[in-house]
Amino acid sequence: MSETLLVTGATGKLGRLVLDELLASGKVSPADIIATSRDTEKLADYAAKGVQTRAANFDDAASLEAAFTGADRILIISTDALDEPGKRLRQHLTAVAAAQKAGAKHILYTSMPNPETSVIPFAPDHLGTENAIKATGIAYTILRNGWYMENLFLALPHAIADGKWYSASGKGQLAHIARADIAKATAAALASGSTESVTYTLTGDTKHTVDDIAAIVSTVTGKPLEVVDVTDEQLAGGLKAAGLPDFFIPVIVSFDTNTREGHIDLVTGDATKLSGAKLTTLKDFLEASKSALLG
Ligand code: NDP
Repeated sequence: MSETLLVTGATGKLGRLVLDELLASGKVSPADIIATSRDTEKLADYAAKGVQTRAANFDDAASLEAAFTGADRILIISTDALDEPGKRLRQHLTAVAAAQKAGAKHILYTSMPNPETSVIPFAPDHLGTENAIKATGIAYTILRNGWYMENLFLALPHAIADGKWYSASGKGQLAHIARADIAKATAAALASGSTESVTYTLTGDTKHTVDDIAAIVSTVTGKPLEVVDVTDEQLAGGLKAAGLPDFFIPVIVSFDTNTREGHIDLVTGDATKLSGAKLTTLKDFLEASKSALLG
């Protein structure tokens, strides 16, 4: 009998891509997929394709338990609740408990690289969730997602327009991965029928320093881009002056600190191991995003 696969955060950018991959694979019947959101109206396009859509709110345990009932393999996509300390971990723990109560056979979760050593303020959300999943005794697949290539849009359009990219990441290296490649690996893991408990770290195939990335950006856009090395404090000051919300500034700065200190200096090959797909290179990604980069 085929397993029922459930995706939370199905309205999000990653969730939608995972659903699209499952449907495109032809290996999973739409009727065996459950997509959840706080607002099922936002999933009407998937309902029209035969996917089951259910309301689930990570702040409401009963809604999660009801939504998870009958699902064999549950993909918990981490929420975006970063504005209130402790909220996201609370939400994830509620979802893990609901998966257990609903009788899930396998839990998958979108974590982050090296949550044990990372200096990112939200790392404890991920580590706490991983530990809670392990404590259930249910088989699991932890997907420690590296940084999306799409994250570069936070800094690049402004930096390109300015000709200067202020960075505190020094000579630290990281291998960004396209969100679509993470989705392919995630969909493959969700539909794999695997019964072992495994932790993967999904990274791109090539590590870059910020100088490497700036050089690729210059080649792609034809515009000079100088990296200006700043301290964490100077970066925070610049972000404040640019009007970023106070809660978000330490998070953004910590990305650079984390890279500089080598906590995300990984190339694993796990994404291709799961999906079998060749990964998008940073240069190809930036080429495809050229008009958006140039504003
Ligand atoms: P999106 O912001 O596009 O989607 C976030 C999803 O979280 C939405 O589908 C939303 O569903 C859901 N959600 C938020 N709060 C709740 C809640 N209380 N109850 C139920 N669902 C909730 O993010 P992405 O798809 O791009 O990324 C997925 C996750 O990956 C992010 O939430 C974040 O944790 C993480 N991330 C990782 C990055 C990386 O570089 N590795 C970069 C950015 C994010 P709805 O509103 O429909 O209920």
